[in-house]
Amino acid sequence: MTVPSNSITLLYADDIVFISSSAASLQTQLDTLNNWSRRWRLNVNIDKTKVLHVRKATVARSEFVFKIGDKIVDYTSQYRYLGLTVSETLDYNISVNELITGSSRALGSLVSKYYSTDGFDYDTYTKLFESTVAPIMTYCAGVWGFKAYEGLDKLQNRAIRSFLGVGKFTPIPGMTGEMAWIPVSIRNHCQMIKLWCRIVNMHSERLPSRIYAWDCSFSRNHKDTWYNNIKSIMNESGLDTLFNSKCTDGLSTKFISNFAKDMLMQKYQITWEKAVEAMPKLRTYRDLNTTYSVQPYLKSGISRHERSAIARLRCGVFPLEIEKGRYRGVPADRRLCKVCRTGSVEDEKHFLLHCPTYSLQRNRMFMDCQQRYNCNFDNMSDMDKFKFLLSAGVKIVSKFITNISDIRTQTLMRKN
Ligand SMILES: [Zn+2]
Repeated sequence: MTVPSNSITLLYADDIVFISSSAASLQTQLDTLNNWSRRWRLNVNIDKTKVLHVRKATVARSEFVFKIGDKIVDYTSQYRYLGLTVSETLDYNISVNELITGSSRALGSLVSKYYSTDGFDYDTYTKLFESTVAPIMTYCAGVWGFKAYEGLDKLQNRAIRSFLGVGKFTPIPGMTGEMAWIPVSIRNHCQMIKLWCRIVNMHSERLPSRIYAWDCSFSRNHKDTWYNNIKSIMNESGLDTLFNSKCTDGLSTKFISNFAKDMLMQKYQITWEKAVEAMPKLRTYRDLNTTYSVQPYLKSGISRHERSAIARLRCGVFPLEIEKGRYRGVPADRRLCKVCRTGSVEDEKHFLLHCPTYSLQRNRMFMDCQQRYNCNFDNMSDMDKFKFLLSAGVKIVSKFITNISDIRTQTLMRKN
């Protein structure tokens, strides 16, 4: 087949895509296809053949009538090509929404397995998420990944919430800081850097390389372009010299994207710290976790229910009076413990360290810990004890927490 020189043909398995800058030359491509398929007695499936007029939203769709032989080819507003939906205005929200639907289904299946097996450990859950859900979330992110897409963040937060066993009102910086997964935006930006590496290593005659060169000159007068976006990401990642050199300088793509990831994660730590600082619910959390890193209790062999109790206490969403009173507008110093009725505010420290209702269980737990782990609690401050209980992920402690939670629920039920 010979096609006009100002047009492009993409062939993949039994798919053909013609790209052209004018309606007339696209029609010439279709005529060439028609002649070729008649010669070889092949039929083009007209129902699956569509014209996509890619343009700005303010420009009207072309009225040119395209034909293959005597059959009219219909226009479409979006087309799915190699798994990615491309819209006529290149609105990637449409593409990403489809990926969200797909990854949400994959997450549903991961979470149902998580429940049916009564929970995986942190490493298994993370590995399964990274290999079954994240690849769908980042499909083609090298192209569309610059912007933030709320739906993707929500999806990742849903995965984190299911693992921690916390409710939907849990402050997001709290729960994300426990797991320390790579944030969606950084994962996407690294995908863009990987695509950049592939393009600059390509022969300059290849289509992506030609588009990149065109986009580079187009970007002198236009702001929101892929070229400008990747430039700002690489600048942010400390890779501006490499970007300006227009080559990977003998470095592997993996090395470059890992370098960018580390750099972006360091900067993210500061953003995250500010977010934690700004949330009143995370009052306890600030004492327990100051870095965006996997928390040791998640890596210990505690059960799903134990993990949930600890995570809720740490994130300030365990239903103690200090938290419930906030919603009823009770002043903080009047949110008193209804279990012991000693006039103490029922906060996390009262519940774990001081409430006399659980003295028996508490003393036994401290004795067990002392014997088994050689911990000396006598010299520990309340804050150190508190940190130990909610951070170490020791089985005896997590059993104690779930045990006193049950006692608390039963006591309150009886009193009501
Ligand atoms: Zn109490």
